[in-house]
Amino acid sequence: MSYKRVLLKMSGEAMKGHTEYGIDPQTVMKLAKEIKEIKDLGTDVGIVVGGGNIWRGKTAEGLGMDRAQADYMGMLATIMNGLALQDALEKLGVPTRVMSSLNVSEVCEPYIRRRATRHMEKGRVVVFVGGTGSPYFSTDTAAALRAAEIDAEVILMAKNGVEGVYNKDPRKYQDAIMYNELTHKFVLEHGLEIMDSTAASLCKDNHIDLIVFNMNQEGNMKRAVLGEKLGTIVK
Ligand code: UDP
Repeated sequence: MSYKRVLLKMSGEAMKGHTEYGIDPQTVMKLAKEIKEIKDLGTDVGIVVGGGNIWRGKTAEGLGMDRAQADYMGMLATIMNGLALQDALEKLGVPTRVMSSLNVSEVCEPYIRRRATRHMEKGRVVVFVGGTGSPYFSTDTAAALRAAEIDAEVILMAKNGVEGVYNKDPRKYQDAIMYNELTHKFVLEHGLEIMDSTAASLCKDNHIDLIVFNMNQEGNMKRAVLGEKLGTIVK
């Protein structure tokens, strides 16, 4: 049994591989191969990509920039990531559409919900870029929003190098314990950093399940879609 429709959230960091900054095409190709695997299971795949490998509004604000202006730049960064992912997926023969919350009609389609679901019904992967289209939000919130809109059964939160959700940072504390299952309420009450609180609230209020897993482990994406036990599930 596999999920019928999933929303995959990939942070921008996933695109940069071992480089300091930006996009590493070979890393993107590796990700695309994993995405193809889940597509080949017959699962409808929507993807929200972040932009943190290129630009983060909050960081720029800390350095003196106007927050809204910096956030719009962050949203533009997600469009570049989405285009790179589309390129890799289509090289593998996976028909892919990029839909943006900001209008950039020369390079991708505008986000129109009914058109997005139609693409999926026709077997295309849809990459949602431009975040929510509004500053002061994150691409995690965009993931929760699009998951609700396209009626995805689950959000696959692909993490870089961490296996799931822990009671404390596993990179700092050796005795950190991973949770197998959590509730959204617990995540919010304990301020667990899976996603920001706006995104977490949206998931809680709309009963969107999350699977938080390590995407650096090959095959994990497929395992998650097949419903194998891995990472942390948040319900
Ligand atoms: N952003 C925004 N509104 C959104 C989504 C993203 O303003 O709805 C901006 C924000 O500046 C953010 C940047 O885009 O820092 C990159 O997105 P995010 O940090 O969510 O990417 P990720 O951490 O997933 O790579």
